[in-house]
Amino acid sequence: MFQKRKLALVSTLITVAITISFISAPAQAATLPELFSRYSSAATTGQKIKILVVPGHDDEYWGTEFGSVREADITVALGQHLYNYLKTDPRFDVTISRTQMGYTDMFKNYFETQRTNIQEFIRTHVQAFSTKVQTGQVQVADGVSHNYAKPEVAIRLYGINKWANENNIDLIIHVHVNDHGDRLGGQIGKYQGISIYVPDKQYAPAPTSMALGKAIFTELMKTNKASNMPAEAAGVIEDQDLIAIGASDTLTSAAAALVEYGYIYEPQFRNIDIRDALTRSLAYQTFTGVETLFGTTSFEPKPPVVNVPPDPQFSYTWTKNLQKGVGSKTDINALQTALTKAGVYNCGVVGTFGPCTEKGVKAFQKKYSIAQLGNVGPQTRAKLNQLFSR
Ligand SMILES: [Zn+2]
Repeated sequence: MFQKRKLALVSTLITVAITISFISAPAQAATLPELFSRYSSAATTGQKIKILVVPGHDDEYWGTEFGSVREADITVALGQHLYNYLKTDPRFDVTISRTQMGYTDMFKNYFETQRTNIQEFIRTHVQAFSTKVQTGQVQVADGVSHNYAKPEVAIRLYGINKWANENNIDLIIHVHVNDHGDRLGGQIGKYQGISIYVPDKQYAPAPTSMALGKAIFTELMKTNKASNMPAEAAGVIEDQDLIAIGASDTLTSAAAALVEYGYIYEPQFRNIDIRDALTRSLAYQTFTGVETLFGTTSFEPKPPVVNVPPDPQFSYTWTKNLQKGVGSKTDINALQTALTKAGVYNCGVVGTFGPCTEKGVKAFQKKYSIAQLGNVGPQTRAKLNQLFSR
């Protein structure tokens, strides 16, 4: 469910804003050149890039759900793989907030012992931010609406930001699965694909966050589709309101990216049999994105192979040959859907057969040991029908 909360936040807090006089200056986020230089000399200086992986939600508040599929179970599986991959780079000092066993002892203790301090942290930051809005120092951004965080959830999310500030974390990666408000409980929604949220440009860690988000997004887009929700069209989206990425200026030392790895009702998430392979693959791509940001392009381990089975709801029978510039829109839409599901095409379902589709067909032919001609002839058609016609 989506709720507009920005205006409410501002208007209820204006009356107390005047009591704020001072907030201690926090550690500033490292710039990209600073991070690059630290990364390249980490082996000799021991000063590593500090990364925090946050699998979204938890066992108590599990985020969104579809049937028996819970977001928090997917995010923890993906987050743990991501943590393991990042740990293979000795220049990274990696922390994870939660595992399959729940929050790590460190975070469990932090939430308990720091509870009052976290509440104070929230109060002062929200008030100070409200003041900045009222005095025009900060412009309220017109962003995508999000679910309202329950108070207990807010304490954990802001608590993680406070912890990250105190521990000079450089990069935070939040792992999530998306949903949207206007679908009915049991129904498949109309949107699908990946998006990444980063802090609004007016927040301190914005430039590094945007670079991080783009690096991860570029890597994920090699084999996945971008979100088709219009508000997520940018792919990497700036946001002022998500607590996880520093709402009310609560993240000062760390750049952050919140990755929505798709929509909860998409078939790959519904199939429990492939969850491990799927989350491993997405985690690997995310890891590769982070490495790419630091200019590291060849490294172990090798990418795992994930076979995402076709959507059980998608079925199509091709009866005509297709090639660049030739074919009905319906046939080509189905072809592009099939190629996407086969993991060989990433240019969207657009209904015209252009160079990208031709490339996808060649990759499909290669995958199934068919001569790579780039057109859909009898052999390719037979393979497509074998896989996708029911
Ligand atoms: Zn979520």
